[in-house]
Amino acid sequence: MKLYNTASRKIEDFKPLHPPEVTFYSCGPTVYDYTHLGHLRTYVNNDVLKRALTFLGYKVKHVMNITDVGHLTGDSDEGEDKMEKGAAKKGATVWELARVYTDYFISSLDEMNVIRPDVFANATQHIPEFIEMIKVLESKGFTYETEEALYFDVSKFPKYGKLSGQKLEDKIIAARKEVRVDVNKRNPADFALWFKAIGRFKNHVMRWPSAWGEGFPGWHIECSAMCMRYLGETVDIHAGAIDLIPVHHENEIAQSEAATGKQFVRYWFHNDFLLVDGQKMSKSLGNFYTIDDIKNQPIGPMALRLLFLQTHYRQIMNFTWESLSASNKAYNKLVNHVCELKQEVGENQNRHRKSVPKPTYDVGFGEEAKNYRQKFIDAISDDLQAPKAVAVLWEVVKSNLPPNEKLNLIFEIDEVFGLNLKKADFIAVEIPEEIIKLAQEREEARLAKDFKKSDELRKIIREKGYDIKDTDGGSKISKR
Ligand code: AMP
Ligand code: ZN
Repeated sequence: MKLYNTASRKIEDFKPLHPPEVTFYSCGPTVYDYTHLGHLRTYVNNDVLKRALTFLGYKVKHVMNITDVGHLTGDSDEGEDKMEKGAAKKGATVWELARVYTDYFISSLDEMNVIRPDVFANATQHIPEFIEMIKVLESKGFTYETEEALYFDVSKFPKYGKLSGQKLEDKIIAARKEVRVDVNKRNPADFALWFKAIGRFKNHVMRWPSAWGEGFPGWHIECSAMCMRYLGETVDIHAGAIDLIPVHHENEIAQSEAATGKQFVRYWFHNDFLLVDGQKMSKSLGNFYTIDDIKNQPIGPMALRLLFLQTHYRQIMNFTWESLSASNKAYNKLVNHVCELKQEVGENQNRHRKSVPKPTYDVGFGEEAKNYRQKFIDAISDDLQAPKAVAVLWEVVKSNLPPNEKLNLIFEIDEVFGLNLKKADFIAVEIPEEIIKLAQEREEARLAKDFKKSDELRKIIREKGYDIKDTDGGSKISKR
């Protein structure tokens, strides 16, 4: 497997620390509002990576955090806590807000057929771990305290800024332009590990006792501490979208490596944004669609998943309803093809028998199928070239492989794509009136044993873009 590593800005050979095990951490959502399609693009890409690694024989241990405290509206310690602000706006408690939007997040992942992580780690359930880690940083001299907070001192960590390729001086100049809320913060790039429940946070609902006074943790410490708690001091892959690189992930590296003296992450996996009308789809801009908006249309979440697969994860992607509708058509075609293959190999008949024999598609591959399979593996192993791999899938669909091999190969490919093809049932494709009439005429000719006419009509139907197949239950029309 070759993977692009943000840290080296190169595509590298992927070598986990303890093969075949792969430790994988994804930065999860802040649960103050609905999960939107932008988030889903990120988590589907994470899922495809995880499935691809599993397909290639790795054993992936996956952890994702749920941020339910400490994420401020500004990235440089300014603004309010997103959860507290969201709760006030919606007239709910922070705890209710967290529960409702965590449930919505998880059900959106389920709808998208994303395999759940082995652990969902809630920030509010790991406060003792954060405090423990902050104490280590304090004892090693990486922190300083003001009236309002305990900060990480970035000047003590010379590697600071390496991930994003920014020099500390440039970061300081950029940060200086932002509103400085704590006048005693020494350096604008320093970041809070612990906020005290005083001043602007005096009414903060979520608060815990600590050596630095009652308060709540900063956002960045959450991911470092929970990642280490479940996956060890060095993790193989850490994922997020590109907006997290310059502050959140830079800060995670600084505090983790300062605490342990070890490399924190071996491969940084970042995907680009989903845009809508040229702007990042986001909660704060309010330009977002949710999974329910998709389900309200006659379109399934799997069409969205197929659409995501068609853009490489490091490319920016613009969402349009037209492209989703085209993807929906392609998905329906795929499903119907799979269902026809299932019928051909007799899986449906088998299903109704008392003792179900092994489905007849479960066979070894011939030379041609092996070549397609290798082409697919080459595509996904090349920094997850999902669009290329999708093209291989269509080649397989159009090929003349024996139906059982074809079906088997499509199911294997779908272990990585996660399009739910094994479970899929026929999707009704709208057939135009004209085609239905031609098919009826043909059926009559067939029953009258006028095979010449029946063949001619079949040809006309084909030319109009439809296939007709004779089955025990009558003739079936499908889009070519
Ligand atoms: P948030 O809940 O805003 O912290 O976002 C959770 C994850 O989704 C982070 O990795 C974000 O970078 C990512 N994300 C947010 N908006 C988008 C978007 N429009 N496209 C892709 N990823 C996004
Ligand atoms: Zn994170």
